[in-house]
Formats: sequence, structure tokens, C-alpha cells
Amino acid sequence: MAIRTANELFIDQLKDTYSAEKQAVRVYPRFAKAATSPELKDALQTHLEETTKQVERLDQVFEVLEKRSTGKTCEGMKALIEEALQHIEEVEDEVVLDSALIAAAQKMEYYEIASYGTLVAFAQIIGQEDIEELLSETLEEEKATDQKLTGISEAVNQQAISQSAEQSQENEEQASKRKNKRAA
Ligand code: FE
Ligand code: FE
Repeated sequence: MAIRTANELFIDQLKDTYSAEKQAVRVYPRFAKAATSPELKDALQTHLEETTKQVERLDQVFEVLEKRSTGKTCEGMKALIEEALQHIEEVEDEVVLDSALIAAAQKMEYYEIASYGTLVAFAQIIGQEDIEELLSETLEEEKATDQKLTGISEAVNQQAISQSAEQSQENEEQASKRKNKRAA
């Protein structure tokens, strides 16, 4: 559909974000299931519940605007999710997987923060205070989730890195043992 006016662009961006949120609701249970750290599991589960409410907020926005919410697929979110699922398949170590899950979730949250930032600014310009309020509430939740994940990542990434260091030391030791055997 051709976009001719700023208002049509706003609706289009809203639909895009709606699709992004719907995709997030579908994938977050998989992230939560794949997570090992109880804090991470809990954070992902909590954000899944928040995201469900965010979809409802967008439903309200569409209701106010008397527009349909459907009809668009957010390709940006789709790609982020595809990449995340690929990592879930590939990463074997569970601590490293937690790090990968945090990275994936934070990329998704940043995408949403950018989307809602734009939408809030637009709602302000067109003077739709009720819509602005709904969108701002979600924007704050996305930012808070990002910060929470940063907090969790400090412990998880540290663990993943020291584990990797231990592993490479073990590999080195084994290699030098093999070398000594051959020399003997
Ligand atoms: Fe969201
Ligand atoms: Fe989110």
C-alpha cells in the first residue's frame, strides 16, 4: 500500500511494531525455556507477560485511531529472531547460550526502543495524548528490560568467559601432553 501522508506513515509504523510485538510474544517462551540462569529465565518470563500487555496497548491505540492492526510483517524483527534461533541451535555450552540469549533479547529490545521512540514522538506532534501515554508506558518497559538484561549479563558473561578460559587451558594441557608422549 502506498504511503502518502505522515498519518499513513504513523499507522504503517504502528502496524510494523504490532507485528514485531506479536513475533516477540511467540519467541520469548523459547528463549525462557532455553535459558539456564534462573535470573535470566525469570526476566524473560516477566518480559513475555509485559509484551502481552504491550500488544493490548497497541490494540487500544488502533481502536482510538479506528484502524486495523493487521496486514504487515515486521521484517526487521523477523530477521533478529531468525538469527537468535540459529544461535540457540548452534551454541552447545549452556552458560555461553545464556550470553547469546541476552544478546538476542537486547537486540530485540533496542529495536523496540527505536520503534516506540519514533511512535511517541509522532503521537506528541499530532497531539494525541492518550496514544502518547500508552506508547510511552511501553517504551519505559522496554528500556527497563534492557537495563535488567545488562545487569544479568554481567554475571552470565563473566561466567561464560572464565569457563572458556578454563576450557582452552585444558585443551592446551592435553595438546602438550600429547606432544610430550610423541617426543618420548
Ligand atoms: Fe515490546
Ligand atoms: Fe520488549
